[in-house]
Amino acid sequence: MKYEISVTKTACPKEKPADESKLGFGKVFTDHMFIMDYSTDKGWHDGRIVPFGPLSIHPASTVLHYGAEIFEGMKAYRRADGSIGLFRPMENVRRLNRSAERLCLPELDEEGCLDILNTLVELEKDWVPHSEGTSLYLRPYLFGNDPHLGVHAVKNATFVVICSPVGAYYAEGINPVKIAIESTDVRAVRGGTGYAKCGGNYAASLRAGQRAEEKGYTQVLWLDGVEQKYIEEVGAMNVMFKIAGKIVTPSLASGSILPGITRKSCLELLKDWGFEVEERKISVDELFAAAADGSLEEAWGTGTAAVVSPIGQLFYQGNSYTLCGGEIGPVAQKLYDQLTGIQWGKVEDKFGWTQFVCNG
Ligand SMILES: *Cc1c(COP(=O)(O)O)cnc(C)c1O
Repeated sequence: MKYEISVTKTACPKEKPADESKLGFGKVFTDHMFIMDYSTDKGWHDGRIVPFGPLSIHPASTVLHYGAEIFEGMKAYRRADGSIGLFRPMENVRRLNRSAERLCLPELDEEGCLDILNTLVELEKDWVPHSEGTSLYLRPYLFGNDPHLGVHAVKNATFVVICSPVGAYYAEGINPVKIAIESTDVRAVRGGTGYAKCGGNYAASLRAGQRAEEKGYTQVLWLDGVEQKYIEEVGAMNVMFKIAGKIVTPSLASGSILPGITRKSCLELLKDWGFEVEERKISVDELFAAAADGSLEEAWGTGTAAVVSPIGQLFYQGNSYTLCGGEIGPVAQKLYDQLTGIQWGKVEDKFGWTQFVCNG
């Protein structure tokens, strides 16, 4: 089912950024955005593409008081054949609905949501940057929007999609990061909202991230919220290790880990390449024992923004371990090359992951 979408074009289109090397992340926005309202009596209605600009929100709106907000992050790529494509967009749509279910927000029709994304990207296609490594980042988000303070599942909600041309994540080459294991704060707990992509998870994670940065680390490695013993994620990325030739990654079973689409894609590639892949609990003790006896060969984070982010150094309780001599390891490099190659249409997409949106 497709939603009806009205289009009001801007009367004053903005200048596109002249220097794509200075785009950064999420600082520049395109000319238009998508908005759609939900109410329990009308369902989703009034889908519209309008000029990009501020939203008007009731001061008592649910999202401002109780944090009822979920979001997605995905990219549109300018491909080698000149077309514009998305990467596994239905995975994002389905995850948005799973997040909505967890936070008692209304779900979207899958086909209808995909059509909204395609329609907006096609309208904004000239905003998809051209330089190598750049893309148009899409940020769909959905929030509870009741105009009163009572606490209950919402009757009104709003779905918005904004687009931002983003620079190459690794403009200066892939740089392995320094990671500190976080033993005070936790990001998510069993039974909580860890598997949902919701703003509240990020709010809860900022303090640890800030403290780590102050001490010179790039990000934290999160431990589970029950025993603070098992590894969950790295910053806002999923994490993988190569230990004694096998790929090991935390299992999603606890519900406190975000099921990344990059994670899923990497695991599918690794299996296809013949690696033995284990999705299971990994304790921090096991990790450091492997680091100490030399069987921890590589570690990296996975996520849409960076694709693959190698971990060069790990810090825990006064000890530090350097991995791969602080360089990117061969498996992380191969995953990065293969995934970005598929996304930018440079290598064969035998899994059918990329979806054509329009000609460039
Ligand atoms: C979005 C996100 C990820 C990565 O998901 P991708 O679909 O690969 O971008 C990992 N962890 C957290 C907490 C996230 O919010």
